[in-house]
Amino acid sequence: MPPRTVLQRLSFLPDLHLVGGAVRDILLGKEPEDLDFATSAPPQETLRLAKEHGLGAVPTGLEHGTITVLINHHPYEVTTFRHDLETDGRRAKVVWGKSIQADLARRDFTIGAIAMDTSGQVIDPYGGQKDLDAGILRAVGDPRQRFREDYLRVIRAGRFAARYGLEVEEETLQAAKAAAPEVLSHVAIERVTAELDKAFKDPTPSRFLRYLYDLELLQQLIPEFEDTDLLLQNPRWHPEGDVLTHVLQVVDQAPPEIRWHALLHDIGKRDTAKWKPEGWYSFHAHELVGAELIPRIARDLRLPNHLREELLVTTALHMIPAFSKPTPAAIRKFQAQAGPHLKVLEALFRADAGHRREPSAWKFFEPQPVPVQPILQGRHLIEWGHQPGPEFRRLLDAAFEVQLETGETDPERLYQAAQRAKD
Ligand code: ATP
Ligand code: MG
Repeated sequence: MPPRTVLQRLSFLPDLHLVGGAVRDILLGKEPEDLDFATSAPPQETLRLAKEHGLGAVPTGLEHGTITVLINHHPYEVTTFRHDLETDGRRAKVVWGKSIQADLARRDFTIGAIAMDTSGQVIDPYGGQKDLDAGILRAVGDPRQRFREDYLRVIRAGRFAARYGLEVEEETLQAAKAAAPEVLSHVAIERVTAELDKAFKDPTPSRFLRYLYDLELLQQLIPEFEDTDLLLQNPRWHPEGDVLTHVLQVVDQAPPEIRWHALLHDIGKRDTAKWKPEGWYSFHAHELVGAELIPRIARDLRLPNHLREELLVTTALHMIPAFSKPTPAAIRKFQAQAGPHLKVLEALFRADAGHRREPSAWKFFEPQPVPVQPILQGRHLIEWGHQPGPEFRRLLDAAFEVQLETGETDPERLYQAAQRAKD
């Protein structure tokens, strides 16, 4: 439903305004993702009025003053005007406010401190529209104070600037830099990771990551990024230059779902860097060292288990298609190690300078005539008189090794070969 229509439908709420990101998107000529509204009615009053007007209404965030109102089953958040009393560097003690002006004053950046009333008039006390037109991200009010109130805003600044292609205004940038050392002691790591997840959905997260690096936040989050902008690489493989530039380029080129893999695939480079007289560094076995770092990094960043498992595989295996000969045996072994993560590895390989790879490298990702899974199974061994035990496992492992090496698919011949192998 168009924003103006929703504004009309909800106009029974006192002092109703469309607020925040939605107004910014409308001014940019983009369709807003979700519509957030603000009203002077306290939450209970919003609930009552919505029901009185035949709309479903659910208190979804009462402590923040938020009621979700349903129009044609579509949810719209309506929040009572707020006013910050005091803050602790992340959260504010809020009271219900009386005016849209006060409500806009507590918002972080001018481009998100714009409202639209039911007649379609834009309320823009901080010049957000002008900043949008000029391509500037600017804090509302005194930037130093705004960042001290909520250090998460330091990160949000970089994310919004990257997403909308804005320059962070000089005073805002200086204040963000001054506040940066305090950010991670005030903001829960989950909130930081959530900001990265959001940025990874945007077209060019590299601008955001470079901002985090310039503020030394990326290095605080993941120490292995420290000084990666100084690590020059072999220009033959990496005409783009240093490790950081390379990684950020891969992140941009990767589809959103695999951007964590892109960010971390070369995380072992810093610890393996060796200076070469040719004028650049080599990074022998960086993929293995990188894979060893993944569990700690994933734990520090509170990444979900399934992502950690997948990161281990992509980090460890990402070099194989680049530098191994695609023999049938090598392809089978690679796919056996990749398991269910082959598609993700392929997407990473494409983003990671895929256009410069030998055409034959792509053979590593081709479907195999016989799926790369163990053909000799425990049930075969039981049939042939074996008892489950350590011996059992050794036979199965040996048979699978033979299968990958030779391409043999007959269980009986695999069994015989496994017995020979263990003698
Ligand atoms: P997105 O597309 O990422 O959702 P958005 O501008 O809608 O962008 P939200 O995080 O959804 O951002 O917040 C909605 C609005 O609430 C913002 O536009 C801003 O005005 C205000 N806001 C959100 N978080 C903060 C914060 N930490 N400090 C101040 N104002 C905030
Ligand atoms: Mg939003």
